[in-house]
Amino acid sequence: MKLFDLRGGVHPEGKKDLSAQRRIRALPLPQFLYVPLQQHIGAPATPVVHVGDQVLKGQLIATAQGAVSSAIHAPTSGTVIALGDFVAPHPSGLPVPTITLQSDGADKWIDTETIDDPFALPPEDIAARVGAAGIVGLGGATFPSALKLNLSRNSGVQTLIMNGGECEPYLTCDDRIMRERAVEIVEGILLIARAVAAKEILVGIEDNKPEAIAAMQEAAQGTAVKVIAMPSMYPMGSEKQIIQVLTGFEVPAGGRPADIGLLVHNVATAYAVQQAIRFGRPLISRLVTVSGGAIKTPSNVEALIGTPVQELIDFADGYTQPAARLVLGGPMMGQQFTHTGVPVVKGTSGVLALTQAEIGQAAPSPCIRCSTCIRVCPVGLMPVEMVSRIRASDLAAAVTFGLKDCIACGSCSYVCPAHIPLVHYFNYAKGDLAAQERTKLKQEATKKLADARNERIARIERERAEAAARRKAAREAKERAKAEAAKVAEEVV
Ligand code: SF4
Ligand code: SF4
Repeated sequence: MKLFDLRGGVHPEGKKDLSAQRRIRALPLPQFLYVPLQQHIGAPATPVVHVGDQVLKGQLIATAQGAVSSAIHAPTSGTVIALGDFVAPHPSGLPVPTITLQSDGADKWIDTETIDDPFALPPEDIAARVGAAGIVGLGGATFPSALKLNLSRNSGVQTLIMNGGECEPYLTCDDRIMRERAVEIVEGILLIARAVAAKEILVGIEDNKPEAIAAMQEAAQGTAVKVIAMPSMYPMGSEKQIIQVLTGFEVPAGGRPADIGLLVHNVATAYAVQQAIRFGRPLISRLVTVSGGAIKTPSNVEALIGTPVQELIDFADGYTQPAARLVLGGPMMGQQFTHTGVPVVKGTSGVLALTQAEIGQAAPSPCIRCSTCIRVCPVGLMPVEMVSRIRASDLAAAVTFGLKDCIACGSCSYVCPAHIPLVHYFNYAKGDLAAQERTKLKQEATKKLADARNERIARIERERAEAAARRKAAREAKERAKAEAAKVAEEVV
């Protein structure tokens, strides 16, 4: 199949050999699980349990709130011991609303429904079951999958693209799941394709994962699924980039793949879909790569959602030396964190403990206008121009240079010879823009409320004046009638 060129991109050292050959191992059952209510794009889930409740594994503990949200289920059986704030897996380390569960050690499932022929289900039913299972995009985007399926079906998606790129250095959990669970993934892919009535199904996998490609090709034999080896380059696993390489199409700025008849899902999401539809199992665990130069035994582990990250590090035999930086996700797009008590959430693809040698030491120096950052930007932006506008606090000008189209891939920062942390500026500026937009929306809502109140007051005053005028007119008419009657009486006399 013809592949198209990816604009820009970089070749960071993969470091995948640290963990790629290690089979998936299930983490022992933790005693406490900390399950945040916000693990997805959209509104946080609403708890449906109380402190003291006994729950079974897979039981719904928080329900989706509104159209863009996702349900959350108990990762094991036990007792709800707290409903309150707990430290979040986020650079801020600020606490977020969390359900804390104490395991009873039995790991007892709720009754689940196994379906012998999931392909007999109507497409809407597949999407509904995906929503009920709390599945979100496991590639990192954490967008509620059912909503994506429904939007794609309604907009007439033609091609389903499954993302097996996993281009971030160190991460190998998608590689391992494709090698070890390819049959289940292919079934999940076919169910997703049925849910959106896709006519073509492409699976893109970077060519640095030959075993995963072979396993997926074997599992896809005799089906409509085409497995394609793509060149290894960062950020091949980003949604817009995999679309560009496999189809030659570009998603319009500010648009969605569905706008051009495409839907992209991650291969691990397909596995979660298969488990939910065929076996009725909600999303309560995920694969996580534990790696980095400071980790003694880099591993791929299956961890329950809510497991403290420290337990994953311990399971990988701890540190060889103190970690200079801890990262959730990959080193290019992941988030630094400091508190190892933070829980694994649905979007946690990696836990990295990096050494000083791995993160480098160079301090930023002034820009030398080399334009390397422009050459590598996969979106075709001008990072050097955007950063100068952000430094001058001119966010509007940074937006005209494409700030909102930046996918925060970090390629520009990676190549910058002056070691300017460009992507940090962009993330910071986007956060600022989002805050400004929230404030603007709030002000508009307040203005709308004030306008409505003023209008209500004006209407009441108008109605009062009209009523007074009517009363006055009635009084005057009555007086006139009385006067006329008196006049007639006088004339009669
Ligand atoms: S790569 Fe760095 S030094 Fe070169 S133009 Fe961009 S910001 Fe300046
Ligand atoms: S972080 Fe943004 S500006 Fe930098 S290379 Fe990636 S998309 Fe381009």
